[in-house]
Amino acid sequence: MLLTIQPNESLRSFLERHIYLDSQAPSAISLKQISRFYMRASAIRVIAAVIGSDNCYGFNRLLHDHTSYPQLALFRQASQVGYSGSKYLSSTTRFETEDVRPAFCIACVKEDIESIGFAYWRRDHRYVNVCAKHNVVLLKKCPVCKKSIEIHDHGYGYSLLWKGCKGRHVYEFREIINSDAREQTYSKIHEEIGRSRFYLLRDEVTQHLKEKAIEMASSEAISEEELEVIKSQLEFFRFCIPRLDSDYRPDHRYSKELIHVISTLYGSFGSLVDDIRQRGGLVRCIDDSMHAVGE
Ligand SMILES: [Zn+2]
Ligand SMILES: [Zn+2]
Repeated sequence: MLLTIQPNESLRSFLERHIYLDSQAPSAISLKQISRFYMRASAIRVIAAVIGSDNCYGFNRLLHDHTSYPQLALFRQASQVGYSGSKYLSSTTRFETEDVRPAFCIACVKEDIESIGFAYWRRDHRYVNVCAKHNVVLLKKCPVCKKSIEIHDHGYGYSLLWKGCKGRHVYEFREIINSDAREQTYSKIHEEIGRSRFYLLRDEVTQHLKEKAIEMASSEAISEEELEVIKSQLEFFRFCIPRLDSDYRPDHRYSKELIHVISTLYGSFGSLVDDIRQRGGLVRCIDDSMHAVGE
């Protein structure tokens, strides 16, 4: 039985759901070839083949919609053509790793069960502390036995959402509401980047944010101290990330510093994109670049 991959579902969640429901089904047997620890480019091609979109576009869509890769890929070098550069052709690049722990939101679990009948793991919840949609604190431990999810059961504990623990289910527990507004803004911007239909140029974005910060400091909308922090965060983003074609690692959280800057200056990624567009900067549709292979 082939399942439908859900909006924002992590690739690992999609794979583990197949194995959990029927480990002898042909789709589950194909997916079982994939490492239980890394989701490499070759694994993503296996998933693309299982869902019937085994081509460059299908590969790039999976990357953009179901991994954290857009956190880097949305901010391009001017010379880059294809969405994933040479990675479509390589097999070793890792796009998801169990080094970064999965997490879940109890409100999402309840909502999923009500709307589609089962819960699933979100790609974004690995990288943030609160759910962008519900402002609920994400859990990395089983609420029943308090064990970390990754050691909870076979296959890094993903079955917790489907079979529960000691006769109890996670939806029986109450959500803990987050009270830190910056955490929620961070999660929202992270999610907006993942869902974006547009890409920007990395150098243009950093230059634009720097000018905006200077402008806001001169009108005293932010302090001189905040301006200095922003400048160093932008330098970090610009110079400490690798080129897209070398040594990509999902656990590096490339957009972290940038999200903090966007949070202080704009409050949302959409407002930044609108501002760049209004000032004549490059804002291009990401879908157009997904058919192209190579640099
Ligand atoms: Zn949620
Ligand atoms: Zn448990």
